[in-house]
Amino acid sequence: MTACYINGKYKKLSQSSISVTDRGFQFSDGVYEVIAIYNNKFVDENLHLDRLRTSLNKLNIKINLSSKQIQNISHKIKKLNKISNGIIYLQVTRGDQHPRDHKYKNIMKPNIVIYSIKKDFKKLDQLALKGVKTSLYPDIRWLRSDIKSISLLGNVMAANHAKKNNSHEAILFDHKNNITEGNSSSIWIIKKNICYTHPLTYRILKGCTRNKLITILKAHKFKFKEKLFSKKALLDADEVFMTSATNFIMPIIKVDSYKISNGKPGSFSQRLRKEFINSI
Ligand code: PLP
Repeated sequence: MTACYINGKYKKLSQSSISVTDRGFQFSDGVYEVIAIYNNKFVDENLHLDRLRTSLNKLNIKINLSSKQIQNISHKIKKLNKISNGIIYLQVTRGDQHPRDHKYKNIMKPNIVIYSIKKDFKKLDQLALKGVKTSLYPDIRWLRSDIKSISLLGNVMAANHAKKNNSHEAILFDHKNNITEGNSSSIWIIKKNICYTHPLTYRILKGCTRNKLITILKAHKFKFKEKLFSKKALLDADEVFMTSATNFIMPIIKVDSYKISNGKPGSFSQRLRKEFINSI
């Protein structure tokens, strides 16, 4: 049995339900977060709780739970579900509204759901030793990808394009052929010992793993730039890797049919993965 927190109560996940009048169901009017639990430790928990608050503020969704209360609920879910490796999934939608109307009411009662999913990070460690294949896909998402909204159709289409091509992730490019991010990750390249990733704009999510990696890069005095880079620069890179809450730092060895670093995970990417895991 998986326990789920739903609007103040703990229930079985299979018995937790939300009304069809929920604005998340009707309009994707809501936000979410994913926090990894690695060897019993919450990874970058405060960064994720802060980003949840930021996403809520950007959409003017008001909840009556503090970050501390959300943290306590997440820890209780971990305990109830006996999770030592996995993720906590948090979702907040604006709440139920009937009759359906694009315009939301001034006072709404958000629907808050928190549950967990087990995950085998050892499999990902194995994958990281080999590196992963990726596929390019146009970034067809809306123009506010900085909000971690549950409206994910563009990401879903990109991810399924990747799946069809036996790829781990889709790498998205904009109308100017610049790389924005992955379907669920931040994308990085390394060229001449400098790490590059897309600057923080409305077009990408402020990745918590990205944030943490920047702290690590600074601590080690590794050079990095938050700068646009093109599809061509991606294919010409010395190394490419992706970062996300569930992949940590994952070396990329192929983009469609193009091999990166001779089809082997780059040594710098592997070192950064180790540094990241040591920092958890
Ligand atoms: N970009 C997108 C579109 C994502 O969905 C994610 C994670 O799900 C990320 C970037 C990486 O963010 P984080 O490192 O916080 O998981």
